[in-house]
Amino acid sequence: MTGSTTSVLIVGAGPVGLALACELGLRGVAAMLIEKRDGTIAVPKQSMVSSRSMELCRRWGIAPAVRAAVWPQNHPRDFVYAESLRGRELLRVKLPSFAARERDDITPEPPCPCPQTYFDPILTERVRTFATVEIRYDTRLDGFTQDDEGVAAQLTDTRGGASKSVTAYYLVGCDGPAGVVRDALGIGLVGGGTIANSLNLFFRSAALASFHDKGWARFYRVIDEAGCWGELIPIDGNELWRLTVFDEPASAEDPDALLRKMAGGAFDYEMLSVVPWQRREYVASRYGEGRVSIAGDAAHECSPTGGIGMHTGLEEAANLGWKLAAVLERWGGPRLLASYEAERQPIALRNVALATRSFEAIAAIPGTRAPEDLRWRAKPSPWLSVPEHLKLQYAYEGSPICVGDGAAAPDPEPARFVASARPGTRAPHAWLADGRSTLDLFGDGFVLLRLGHKPPDAARLLHAGKLRGVPMREMSIGDPHIAALYEKRLVLVRPDGHVGWRGDDVPADAGGIIDRVRGA
Ligand SMILES: Cc1cc2nc3c(=O)[nH]c(=O)nc-3n(C[C@H](O)[C@H](O)[C@H](O)COP(=O)(O)OP(=O)(O)OC[C@H]3O[C@@H](n4cnc5c(N)ncnc54)[C@H](O)[C@@H]3O)c2cc1C
Repeated sequence: MTGSTTSVLIVGAGPVGLALACELGLRGVAAMLIEKRDGTIAVPKQSMVSSRSMELCRRWGIAPAVRAAVWPQNHPRDFVYAESLRGRELLRVKLPSFAARERDDITPEPPCPCPQTYFDPILTERVRTFATVEIRYDTRLDGFTQDDEGVAAQLTDTRGGASKSVTAYYLVGCDGPAGVVRDALGIGLVGGGTIANSLNLFFRSAALASFHDKGWARFYRVIDEAGCWGELIPIDGNELWRLTVFDEPASAEDPDALLRKMAGGAFDYEMLSVVPWQRREYVASRYGEGRVSIAGDAAHECSPTGGIGMHTGLEEAANLGWKLAAVLERWGGPRLLASYEAERQPIALRNVALATRSFEAIAAIPGTRAPEDLRWRAKPSPWLSVPEHLKLQYAYEGSPICVGDGAAAPDPEPARFVASARPGTRAPHAWLADGRSTLDLFGDGFVLLRLGHKPPDAARLLHAGKLRGVPMREMSIGDPHIAALYEKRLVLVRPDGHVGWRGDDVPADAGGIIDRVRGA
């Protein structure tokens, strides 16, 4: 058995493992990313990159590449509900193309269609630019042991079958729903389990776009006498498509018959893959143990109807990345890593529930001949997709590493996004005079914002950070609108862009604040 060492061993090069590798690479942390497959991705699972995910991509320097990857900017993004592509249109929720969309004042990065077959390679290319990160394909984790010093992992080269060992200070299982890390830690699952047996048909057809009269849309949901049975998604806005059949009775039919039923007639296509899969909802009861953590689908799975699964995993990578760097650089305290579960598990529970709510709203669409059909079309459920603004509307309530300021928690499900800079929330976006977003200020180290006209001196807080080795810099923003948005004159923003503390003056115990946010 041959051996090597690294600081963080990341298991699984799906989007979440790649995102964590990016977070660590940007911070100069040595990491090894292992993947049991050869690195090619044949089937697009995720298709939408949420605005929060796009904000992270912006920080990783890949947002323009993701936006330009595949989806034509002038295609409308409507949700079309019809008997079939050629059949009667029942409802259309109109959404403008990205080209026609107005500049958003809640995020610098609106959501973007970029299926996994395009998204993962962009992330991979970015990871390859980091000198401290090594990617090893065809390498499977078989088991590991951990002690006070580190983790010893047993790997197998899946091409030659040779065994290897790697030692690391930390291991993160981003190994998906069937990964070995969660099981090895004996972590159970909380939640409903399987909610449907679904089927994905991935196919190529240059003919389909002009086969019908509905025009380009993001989703075409097809409804028969029994209700909504499937959804068609354009993958590249040209000739690649994915039909997802929601539940088993329909998927028992012949795949070709399903495509004809969806289209309302026979059309030319090449079937690329037919993949049955279980639509599941669960969250891991724990997010790790000792030096080993889990993230992404290894920690939760949800119905894709919300477009929120990868979104939740990328946020986890952003939450965990700076904490691992902090403990390796020795300015992170002993409670820092435990805050990962405390902050992220409640968000996963909430996001999984949002996705199921959306699936249930689709499942409740009445059949085309049902008496409620007209009523449904006159007043469709707002939950036919998870409202995008709710993906930004989250906070690490009660976090052990945020200093609460007593401000009341906002409604968790407001009709419109409510910006907030309460400790625990994502520090809100606003455009700066030089055209950047406030979000562009955050990422490497803590940022102490001094806001408004004549902001208070914050030297004591900066000094307390320096004494403890915490990377921290100050930024003054005079703009009164941004000062009003952030509400306090001093706001300490963490490396993941969340607010750790805010106040109008530096309190007597400046060191106490720094110790709290660094998990000491
Ligand atoms: C049909 C569908 C549509 C979806 N649409 C969206 C969407 O629009 N937006 C969204 O945000 N999410 C969406 N999702 C969810 C999204 O695809 C997942 O949340 C995401 O892929 C999870 O990424 P991950 O990196 O955690 O896991 P995975 O993508 O499962 O990657 C895990 C990786 O670990 C590797 N691995 C496993 N075990 C080992 C081992 N022992 N050793 C080494 N490597 C190992 C696997 O080979 C795999 O490459 C969708 C899901 C489905 C099924």
